[in-house]
Amino acid sequence: MRGKAHWGGWSLPEPAGDGAPLLLGPDEPPPFEIVNPEGTGRLLLVCDHASNNLPRRLARLGLTDEQLQQHIAWDPGAGAVARGLAGRLDAPLFLGGYSRLAIDLNRPLESPELIPAQSDGVLIPGNQGLDRNARIARIDALFLPYHQAIAQWLDAHPDPGLRLISLHSFTPRLAAGQWRPWPVGLAHGRDARLAHQLRPVLAGQLDRPVGDNEPYGIDHTHDFTLPTHGERRGLAHVMIEIRQDELRTPSQIAGWVERLARAYSRIDEDAQTEPPSTGQSRA
Ligand SMILES: [Zn+2]
Repeated sequence: MRGKAHWGGWSLPEPAGDGAPLLLGPDEPPPFEIVNPEGTGRLLLVCDHASNNLPRRLARLGLTDEQLQQHIAWDPGAGAVARGLAGRLDAPLFLGGYSRLAIDLNRPLESPELIPAQSDGVLIPGNQGLDRNARIARIDALFLPYHQAIAQWLDAHPDPGLRLISLHSFTPRLAAGQWRPWPVGLAHGRDARLAHQLRPVLAGQLDRPVGDNEPYGIDHTHDFTLPTHGERRGLAHVMIEIRQDELRTPSQIAGWVERLARAYSRIDEDAQTEPPSTGQSRA
């Protein structure tokens, strides 16, 4: 599926020539996982950085096991929260199957961070000086299948009232950086509907600060998933980011699933009982 596909308008590179090696062996896990595809919650969940797996051919990118456990390789805890929410809210969930160091599913194809040469001060040996075919092999094997599957699911379930939530986790501090005081952040781009509905409800439950586009916001040069699948389709969307020290134990994770599910259910009920809006609701 090359050229300007109707579901994204992305400009895709030409495929690698015949004989280019496939990145994933037949016995390796698929590039993404879908949980609860027939969920009826009018909500789609996505978790781009759920996994720190690497394709065998990439030989761990030259990193140690310890480095591959760290936040540079994935978002620890985010996948577990996303799975819990998919069950609680009866929502389909797409999870990326491989590490963001192989290819970052939330970066535009033209971003220099798509296949990072370094991350948070760590040089990634296996990502140095990649040729065009090596880059395209990662795009074809890992990036396109995930985003095409999300786009196809959305095409098959047309619903202007569908909401899209992307789950991430963030490290309490970057190398030599300041402590990040928010246990949770809600990020949005131009469409802040869902973030602005969720924030007061979540803040009321937490009694701690809720980040407003902190520690990260969403923009088209750094982010791909929500601009592509949410904003372009006009679907309300938000990125929920939880600080990783909040997700170290199963009971902490269960606590966040419960908190987020309660907050989401509350705004969902409010939306169903509100009279239809007559004015402009978007700032
Ligand atoms: Zn992430």
